[in-house]
Amino acid sequence: MTDELFRKDSYLRECDAAVVAVEGQSVALDQTVFYPLGGGQPGDSGSLTWGSRSTRIVDTRYGDSGEILHFLEDDSPLPPLGEIVHLELDWDRRYRHMRMHTAMHLLGAVLKYGVTGGNISADKSRLDFDMEDSVDKEAVGAALQALVEEDHPVSCRWISDAELDANPELVRTMSVQPPRGKGEVRLLEIEGVDLQPCGGTHLKSTAEVGKVRIGKVEKKGRRNRRVNIHLDD
Ligand SMILES: [Zn+2]
Repeated sequence: MTDELFRKDSYLRECDAAVVAVEGQSVALDQTVFYPLGGGQPGDSGSLTWGSRSTRIVDTRYGDSGEILHFLEDDSPLPPLGEIVHLELDWDRRYRHMRMHTAMHLLGAVLKYGVTGGNISADKSRLDFDMEDSVDKEAVGAALQALVEEDHPVSCRWISDAELDANPELVRTMSVQPPRGKGEVRLLEIEGVDLQPCGGTHLKSTAEVGKVRIGKVEKKGRRNRRVNIHLDD
């Protein structure tokens, strides 16, 4: 298994790591700062360097055994097993993912409907809501921006299934029910705004989201409204 450094500190941009497996054009390492595709958030890209060699990491995904695979560009050289390599994120892209991801939690707090899907990218993100009502773009946009500017602290913590069972009121306050059976769950809390299980990478406070704008609202069926958001900067 890969030690997932981004879970403890989403602001880490680089690290050294040892190569533990090479499969095709992908490399597994003993630890990484690269987030793998999941929860609607894209896998990270960046660079991998060893000795005098450097190559691009074009995507990051979980492998079949739960290890994190770093996909190198086609025809690039591969580091040998056991080699110590240096990893560095495309930070501008990842930071936009963090701003978008945190903004999505805020959007879910403004529109208190069930969320049926979502997708994050550096340019545009969307959440699908189980709702029949129309969306007042101006009001939702203003409420979203207000939550950003109130600068709520954002934090993560792990909680065991036993603690969840002992605190049923905690589960009731969550906007999304936690998955059970893995022993523990990672909770994301935006103080006073949102509490829910989430494994993505977030900002440390909502003000870092910056200027956010509601884009197109699409009607994707009688009970589905797709709300797009953009970052303006
Ligand atoms: Zn999240």
